[in-house]
Amino acid sequence: MCRHLAYLGPAVPLSAFLLDAPHSLAKQAWAPADMRGGGTVNADGFGVAWYPRAGPPVRYRSAMPIWSDAALPRLAAVTPASAMLAAVRSATVGMPVTESAAAPFVDGRWLFSHNGVVRGWPQSIAGLAADLPIEDLLTAEAPVDAVTLFSLVRHQMRAGKRPEEVVPSLIAEVARVAPDSRLNLLLTDGTRIIATTWGHALSVRAGDGAVLVSSEPLDDHPSWRPVPDRHLLVATPSSLSLTPLGDGFDGEVPRRA
Ligand code: GLN
Repeated sequence: MCRHLAYLGPAVPLSAFLLDAPHSLAKQAWAPADMRGGGTVNADGFGVAWYPRAGPPVRYRSAMPIWSDAALPRLAAVTPASAMLAAVRSATVGMPVTESAAAPFVDGRWLFSHNGVVRGWPQSIAGLAADLPIEDLLTAEAPVDAVTLFSLVRHQMRAGKRPEEVVPSLIAEVARVAPDSRLNLLLTDGTRIIATTWGHALSVRAGDGAVLVSSEPLDDHPSWRPVPDRHLLVATPSSLSLTPLGDGFDGEVPRRA
C-alpha cells in the first residue's frame, strides 16, 4: 500500500527525501520494506507538495511511477522546502490510476494523504458522505476512497473544527461503518503534522528543530522511532505528541440519524 512522508524544519531540497536518502520515497516505491496487508510496489503515481516563500502550496504529481519521471531529479534538487508532504501510490484494486487520484490532495494550506483502504468503499461510507455538500461530491477529484476521506476531513475543518479533533473522530466513524479498514492519514498545514496509524507502518524522527514522519525510516539514524498502531501523532518542529486511538473512542462515536 502507499507510502507517504511529511517534513517540517530547516529548508532542505526535496530530493533529500524523495530521491537521495538510502531509503528515500523513490526507494520505498519499488522496494518498500514494511508493506502490510498486500501490495508489493508503489508504482501507481506519486505526488509532492511544498510551501514556497509566499503564496499557496505548490503541488507536482503524476500517474507515473516516481522513478520514471525524468523532470523530478533536477526539479527536486533545486527546490528547497521547510515544509512538505509527499506520497507514492499503490492503487487499491478497482480504483483508477490517474494523476487526480495521487496524493497530496490540497485545500488551501492543508495537504492530505491516505495510506490504506476503506473496506467496502463506496457503499460502506456512503452514509458519512451523505453529509457532504453536493458541490463537493460533484467536484471530487477522483472516485477513490482517499478523496472521500479528504472531502470529509475538509468539510469538518471548513466548519471550524480543528484537525486534531476531526481526524480521530473520522477514524472512529469509518472504522465503525467499514470495519477492517486501514486508515493511516497524513496532514500538514506547513506548521504542524497530523498523522494516524491504523493498520499500516509509520515512523517519526524528531530533533534539531525538525520533524520527519514517514511510512518507513529514510535511513538508519538512531533517532527514528516507530509509531505504534492505532495512534494519533501531532508534531511541530519542536513538539511531538502521540495519543492512542481505538479503545478511547469506542462507544464515543457520534451516531448519525
Ligand atoms: N486506497 C488508496 C488509493 O487507492 C490508498 C492506497 C494505498 O495506501 N495503497 O489511492
